[in-house]
Amino acid sequence: MAKRIKPDLRWAAQTALDVQNAINLSGVLHTLDQIVTDVLWPEARKLGKGTEFVNTHCIVTLFLHKLMTLNASECFCSSCVGNFTRASAEVADIAKGVPS
Ligand SMILES: [Zn+2]
Repeated sequence: MAKRIKPDLRWAAQTALDVQNAINLSGVLHTLDQIVTDVLWPEARKLGKGTEFVNTHCIVTLFLHKLMTLNASECFCSSCVGNFTRASAEVADIAKGVPS
């Protein structure tokens, strides 16, 4: 992980996209931990939000999907696929710097 880069939301979003090619579960999990602690919680506090904002953030959705995939337990029902597609689009916008 590029630890010298200041971890901001755009970096976290790009990382969530990049990690979709990862094969190492522990690396993905460690990066998610880092992003939740160093990016999403500071962002939540900045916006006056809390646990739900962090738990349901689209960046977290992408990481969890990747973990499920690595574990071969991802779900292909239309609700889960739709959820992942929506989260991917949101994360791509954040990575590009599109204001939400
Ligand atoms: Zn499902």
